[in-house]
Amino acid sequence: MPAGFTQTDAVARFFDAARSIVGEDRVFTAPIDRAGYSDPMAFDPERHQPSGAVAAETVEEIQQILKTAAQEGVPLWPISRGKNFGYGGAAPVQAGAVVLDLSRMKRILEINEDLGYCVVEPGVSFYDLHDALAARGHRLWMSVPGNSWGSVAGNALERGVGPQPYGDHAAQICGLEVVLADGALVRTGAGAMEGNPAWHVTRNSYGPGWDQIFCQSNFGVVTRMGLWLMPAPEATMTLSLQLPEADDIERGIGLFAPLRLRGVIDHDAAWVSYIGIASYVGPRSMFWDGEGLLPESVGARIREQLKIGWWNAEVNLYGPEEVIAAKAKIVSAAAKNAAVSAGDWRTWRQGDDFGLSHAGIPSTRDMTMIGWYGGRGGHLGFSPVMPSDPALAAEQFRRARKRYEEFGIDYYGAFGVGGRQTVAVNEILYDRDSKEQERQVHALFETLIRDTHQAGFGEYRTHIDYMDAVADTFDFNDHAMGRLNEALKDTLDPKGILAPGKQGIWPARFRT
Ligand code: ADP
Repeated sequence: MPAGFTQTDAVARFFDAARSIVGEDRVFTAPIDRAGYSDPMAFDPERHQPSGAVAAETVEEIQQILKTAAQEGVPLWPISRGKNFGYGGAAPVQAGAVVLDLSRMKRILEINEDLGYCVVEPGVSFYDLHDALAARGHRLWMSVPGNSWGSVAGNALERGVGPQPYGDHAAQICGLEVVLADGALVRTGAGAMEGNPAWHVTRNSYGPGWDQIFCQSNFGVVTRMGLWLMPAPEATMTLSLQLPEADDIERGIGLFAPLRLRGVIDHDAAWVSYIGIASYVGPRSMFWDGEGLLPESVGARIREQLKIGWWNAEVNLYGPEEVIAAKAKIVSAAAKNAAVSAGDWRTWRQGDDFGLSHAGIPSTRDMTMIGWYGGRGGHLGFSPVMPSDPALAAEQFRRARKRYEEFGIDYYGAFGVGGRQTVAVNEILYDRDSKEQERQVHALFETLIRDTHQAGFGEYRTHIDYMDAVADTFDFNDHAMGRLNEALKDTLDPKGILAPGKQGIWPARFRT
């Protein structure tokens, strides 16, 4: 990774020009602003500290800012709301880049209840969209990530997930408006035709599909997104399941994967380890005030106290009551057959209180987890993707857990089980006031990248510190994919101004 962008004269000229484009009050260069746009959970906040930020409100302003950035050679880092916590927050990979803040572009341009989609600008938060849907009688439900204070568009672009049928957020994208590095404004899919009303309903328009090329890339600034939403179901049913022992994960994945593949359940159910659940309840000191790894005897006591298993999951069914009642019987029988203990189904019908329904209500509850060790908390996610093969997933669990123990970090894992793929989420919690623990976490993360690569898998998303390292693991044919990404980068952004280093994609001028 090249060192930060240090051409301070160019940056100063850029900020002067930016002031005349957006006005004094939307250019942020004071130390407190630079800190505000840094990664609040970073081991070394300086490493990714931007030179400042410029907030745009319109496509025209973005175009002018890009033009000035190209003239001065100043790298920009576009963000939607910049709440990408655990992956870098608002901060750029390259220190000294300028954050292009789109959080003021907050219009919900369309909600189409008959066709099940919305069209949003980048700054629309999950709370904004929730409120708009609620005000219209909640005929559409959204899928929200565990921590939903970010933006609908930014989260989908980063391939965020939620525990809902539409929980693969990038997969719901249909039709983008994008400003390219040279200022050209393009609309993808059917939107490439002036006024085409099929823009946000078909992904299979004419020619190459570009929506996904703007996900986890640095090829453009997304200014508008069509996103499919789920029609509110007639009813939902919910079942809680538990597995008592660590090694039971194999059985757990074997239970969900075929049900998901056959469409009996239509969301990726996740097995969450008990420390994850405990960390939502309160800090570790609530359960134990010792040092080092949480002893297994204390773990057993926590599970007993919270009435949870080593692994815990929830299956939700959505649809007409007759249909989901029939599915519930199949799920219950499968759980019994696999000797997985389950509670009783809880049912919600339209008109009941939404609280029991898994209606995609935004929440920040999960962020409680970062308080696990006390101090100012932080977290990192290491999330390789593997086939929904129970034995492989169990191996991954044992391999990762052993490394957590080696580095003295309490294991917190979650396996999100799809029909074909399972995402092995490894949450790493730490206390930012402990330099020693941060060092251990960094070493653990690098080891997990190496181990998992050796086992043949890669991550689907990562923190800005590790973007190069993870990109390096995609090594087929001597990193042919990396070269394809670079070729596209150099064509679309020859001056190398958009998010250098994102996902390990560097423009020519910064390549070493
Ligand atoms: P959120 O606020 O939804 O959590 P962020 O705004 O932090 O998401 O976005 C996460 C990352 O996704 C950013 O750091 C950036 O790399 C990319 N990104 C987000 N929004 C855009 C956008 N509108 N155009 C291009 N890239 C974006």
